[in-house]
Amino acid sequence: FGFKGCQKIRGPQIRNLLEAKDFFLFDCDGVIWHGENAITGAAKVVSSLIRRGKNVVFVTNNCTRPRENYVHKFYRLGFTDVMLEQIFSSSYCSALYLRDVVKVPGQVFVIGCDGLRRELQEAGIPCVEEADDPDATIYDCALAPDVKAVLVGHDDKLTFLKLAKASCYLKDPECLFLATDNDPWHPLSGGRILPGSGSLTAALEVASGRKATVIGKPSRFMFECISSQFSGVDPAQCLMVGDRLETDMLFGSNCGLDTMLTLTGVSQIEEAQEYRNSDQTTNHSLVPDYVVDTIADFLPAFEE
Ligand code: PLP
Ligand code: CA
Repeated sequence: FGFKGCQKIRGPQIRNLLEAKDFFLFDCDGVIWHGENAITGAAKVVSSLIRRGKNVVFVTNNCTRPRENYVHKFYRLGFTDVMLEQIFSSSYCSALYLRDVVKVPGQVFVIGCDGLRRELQEAGIPCVEEADDPDATIYDCALAPDVKAVLVGHDDKLTFLKLAKASCYLKDPECLFLATDNDPWHPLSGGRILPGSGSLTAALEVASGRKATVIGKPSRFMFECISSQFSGVDPAQCLMVGDRLETDMLFGSNCGLDTMLTLTGVSQIEEAQEYRNSDQTTNHSLVPDYVVDTIADFLPAFEE
């Protein structure tokens, strides 16, 4: 191996790449938007790709909303041609995993936001009802007898009691342990951060002595969901565009896709170069093939 990857591309190189690929996978936060603000030019990029007959899908580790809410969010931010079928979130893919892969034979105990629970309910997956007295302790609660999976995602109403219950359910080796994603933290404006699902999963991994199965990026499962819903997806024809090396670039590598880092989000080009120059070959899976400052750099390629 040499120092492959991390190629900063512009102008005609971007045009050639966009012409060569027919399937585009975009991460959302840090690529398409920052929270409630669209990245300048992103809506035009997405609609231009769609108008040229390219397949475009969105792969997000944000498990806090059902897919339907994403359609509304895209519309609200000026992406008027994005449809439900193009959205692959870690909550939706968790529901597919529970329903179609493991065919969970009982209830699911969910640590997560209402949006995650709603996505599971839509897939017909029974979830344990949460109606706890805030002053209750683990001794006050009856544990449901038929919990066959614990699913952990981002939960802004996490309580110690929820962690305690999940730990109890995980003592049963037949109870599956799943995580929507393993993201450590997320950037907020003003230099603040939000602990991610990965930090909650880590607490339960320690308490249970078990390892969670991760559904979201960088696991391959989201790509399997995409491949099963679009016909003839050829990894060689795909480009995965993301802002985080440890999730998006690794996801692309794990699925055999070409990868592009955009510098509007979490990871810096220097971190990618460090991984590229590392002696540890496993680090090379985190190195993007291509780098752009922003996906708005695609726009000149759409001009005649
Ligand atoms: N999960 C939560 C709770 C988030 O707030 C975010 C980003 O804002 C993400 C996950 C990461 O989303 P994405 O994979 O679209 O970058
Ligand atoms: Ca992101």
